[in-house]
Amino acid sequence: MKKNKLLIVIGGGPAGLMAAGTAAKKKIPTLLLEKMEQPGRKLRITGKGRCNLTNYTELRTFVSHFGKNGSFLYQTFSRFFIEDLLAFLHTLGIETVVERGGRVFPAGNDANEVTDNLIAWAQAQGVEVRTHSIVKEILISEGKVQGIQLEDGSEIQADAVIVAAGGASYTGTGSSGDGFRIAEKAGHSIVPIRPTLVPLKTSGDAAPRMQGLSLKNVRVTVFIDGEKTTSEFGEMLFTHFGLSGPVILTLSGQVVDALRIGRKVILSIDLKPALDEQKLDARLLRELDAHGKQHFSSLLKTLLPKKMIPICAEQVAISEEKLCSQITAKERSILLHWLKDFRFSINGNLPLEAAIITAGGVALQEVDPRTLQSKLNHGLFFAGEVLDLNADTGGFNLQAAFSTGWLAGSSAAKMLEK
Ligand SMILES: Cc1cc2nc3c(=O)[nH]c(=O)nc-3n(C[C@H](O)[C@H](O)[C@H](O)COP(=O)(O)OP(=O)(O)OC[C@H]3O[C@@H](n4cnc5c(N)ncnc54)[C@H](O)[C@@H]3O)c2cc1C
Repeated sequence: MKKNKLLIVIGGGPAGLMAAGTAAKKKIPTLLLEKMEQPGRKLRITGKGRCNLTNYTELRTFVSHFGKNGSFLYQTFSRFFIEDLLAFLHTLGIETVVERGGRVFPAGNDANEVTDNLIAWAQAQGVEVRTHSIVKEILISEGKVQGIQLEDGSEIQADAVIVAAGGASYTGTGSSGDGFRIAEKAGHSIVPIRPTLVPLKTSGDAAPRMQGLSLKNVRVTVFIDGEKTTSEFGEMLFTHFGLSGPVILTLSGQVVDALRIGRKVILSIDLKPALDEQKLDARLLRELDAHGKQHFSSLLKTLLPKKMIPICAEQVAISEEKLCSQITAKERSILLHWLKDFRFSINGNLPLEAAIITAGGVALQEVDPRTLQSKLNHGLFFAGEVLDLNADTGGFNLQAAFSTGWLAGSSAAKMLEK
């Protein structure tokens, strides 16, 4: 016997919980199927446990953070955007604060509080949350959704299904690429998935020797096959395998894509971005003068963190013991250029598992941006990271998950209300 008007939501991340709660609020019987023992496991680890919810930025700039696919989100954001999310969180008792770069966090700095309240809200709207339920495929007949099949072979009939099964990284949270496989089986094209917001591996031993050192206020520039592409200002970190930290993660998407097609990638760090060459040279002259009878290493201490000093001395080929008074104009010029252009050759990236975001996913041209309904199958909707949408760090991805969840839930409810 077919149950009437049931909506099934696959996945209990921010997108799925928002979608399910929104539909249930409109009195649509809604069943949320979650693979893990509890929903929202990835949400609990977002923003290093603080949950960077969104970013206080005007619409056009916000959308630009999603690159060329961002324009798909205009319709979604015209229905549910930053203020709507903040007002919604307020009704859950979550106040928010805006930090550097427009990043919005819960005032309590606790991703668990956001997750617990979101789950409780969805359930209070009437959503039935069924955990340990792994969806294998969507049942479709003559272009219409009929229900789903679980991994154990059992079937549940439904009139609409929202796929919100996330990406394919941090698989311990439950997001292991099932959504892409489910969508593909339902006839959708999947734009090849790849890691983004992912740490990068470097050649040589310079980065590992500086392991644990974090740099603030540096400018990192990407060179692909010798050509400068983009640069980012901010914070980065040296690790035992290479480079990480916010600036590196932000630049990683284009680096991964370039490496995949065999391009040569160099990252150049400007350690003194606030000083142009002229000003930096004047500073070096002053410091050399002041350190005349002291070793080169004591000059470097005024310019660099300790872990970087031996690397610098080696790369500029000036002995740490050399007296500052003996440093030549040519050596000063080499040091100056090194400080503005400290280079790393990139030879890979950490795997998809370690990526904050999965790039690629359900091809957007097969999804109606006004409703997030599939253009191929009636009653099938998509929300969240399973879609071919990804942005850099700063809260953009969670806003997209909440907003697409809201729109998919509203659209499915509207369809089922008819
Ligand atoms: C370490 C880390 C930190 C992050 N920090 C931030 C941040 O601060 N700000 C920000 O904007 N973004 C952040 N992100 C990205 C953000 O977490 C994701 O973009 C977001 O969680 C995507 O939401 P989603 O609902 O689409 O998918 P997910 O949150 O991945 O949820 C998908 C759900 O579907 C379930 N599922 C999967 N397959 C099945 C199946 N077959 N059957 C049933 N259920 C299934 C999963 O178990 C999971 O619960 C971070 C990501 C990581 C990894």
